[in-house]
Amino acid sequence: MPVSVTTDRPNMAIRKILTYPHPVLRQKAEPVTEFDDQLKILVADMGETMFAAPGVGLAANQIGVPLQVVVIEQNTPERQDFMALINPVISNGEGSVFDDEGCLSVRECLAKVRRFKKIHVTAQDVEGRPLEFDAEDRFARIIQHEVDHLLGTLFIDRISPLKRTLYKKKLKKILAEDEA
Ligand code: ZN
Repeated sequence: MPVSVTTDRPNMAIRKILTYPHPVLRQKAEPVTEFDDQLKILVADMGETMFAAPGVGLAANQIGVPLQVVVIEQNTPERQDFMALINPVISNGEGSVFDDEGCLSVRECLAKVRRFKKIHVTAQDVEGRPLEFDAEDRFARIIQHEVDHLLGTLFIDRISPLKRTLYKKKLKKILAEDEA
């Protein structure tokens, strides 16, 4: 008897988040063309993985899947929730905000990054239906950070060269301690 991947799956799975300098983080993600059960599983796992981390956004290449899929936390006081954006595209960036950012794939690093204050977003949902909306402030920052991931860009690419050099030194120490 064929096994249905959606109904026979007892739990969503937490996937391993890959960290810099893993090469998949530098790979450009491919557009999603099949809106099938595999995609729904990927999105569910990404939500689970993001909440467990905990984080506020996650791109598929952070778990080693080079597809244009991101999830973004949308918690309400009542419940944990998230939004999935498939094949997201940002346009009409307006204004600029310089604020702290971190990343689940960049260990022990918090740095100020300049982002658009307001953006327009087009994407698809997990069923392939078109989505279109404006985002501002924190929500816009998270989307810009996640869409960067899909292009192989990390937020440390957007900080000053001096800060980046300092971070690379710090990371070397962290990695050496891991091995010790
Ligand atoms: Zn990130």
